[in-house]
Amino acid sequence: MKLRSVSAAAAAAVVLALTATACGGGSDSGSNGDKINIGIKFDQPGLGLKTPDGTYAGFDVDVAKYVAKELGYSEDKINWKQAPSAERENLIKNGDVKFVVASYSINDKRKKEVDFAGPYFLTHQDLLVRADDNTITKVEDLNSKKLCSVTGSTSAQNVKEKLAPKANLQQLGGYSECLTGLENKAVDALTTDASILAGYAAQKENQGKFKLVGLKMSDENYGIGLKKGDDELRGKINKALEKMVSDGTWEKLVKEHFGPSGYKYEPAPKVQN
Ligand code: GLU
Repeated sequence: MKLRSVSAAAAAAVVLALTATACGGGSDSGSNGDKINIGIKFDQPGLGLKTPDGTYAGFDVDVAKYVAKELGYSEDKINWKQAPSAERENLIKNGDVKFVVASYSINDKRKKEVDFAGPYFLTHQDLLVRADDNTITKVEDLNSKKLCSVTGSTSAQNVKEKLAPKANLQQLGGYSECLTGLENKAVDALTTDASILAGYAAQKENQGKFKLVGLKMSDENYGIGLKKGDDELRGKINKALEKMVSDGTWEKLVKEHFGPSGYKYEPAPKVQN
């Protein structure tokens, strides 16, 4: 599939998801009948990707399946919902999803609105540039550059607040849209978690086009977002995450999903009960 069509589909999907959210319509429990609604990314290869045949693939997708199974929901009982970065808290608060597994960093600002199980993965903010670019090698270089990230992400927030306040930062709805801008030279760099950037760089249609700069600009601990105050669900998800690590599934999944991109993942972080 061509890059442009992936991005167009992703952009359309973002619009659809936003429309659906704006119209409400979810139950207030994140489950309907015997089904469970789970929020994931649809446009992040390696983590959460809606494939052209309509199936879902990635580390976050498999983590979500494992947790759902431990909660008593087999795969055919899962409704996958797109959870763009800026919509995650709303989807949880409105009860549109039971939980969100979508490269979702745990931080204090978000903890005021939702609770987190986990963490289940640790990564760091990095930069993706065009393969022939040698002008961006450190954070300070960004202050004179055009940078792209996503609305509602910690990546954009970190840039504005501390990393490069003077950079010309564009914020779009999804990282795949930034990638198109990077290829077209509308922007000079895309910034977010290295785990996400490595997934884009490794896609067949992107081979040789982009490179990661290799900076560790922040610590991003991925958690599973759920309704604030639902301690019972949080406890159950934490138990499932601990089991996923102790039974070897975590290791198997990170190898499977980050092996192809060559992303050097860190050991499983300890779940905070
Ligand atoms: N992990 C970061 C965040 O939660 C960046 C990735 C994302 O936007 O999903 O904001």
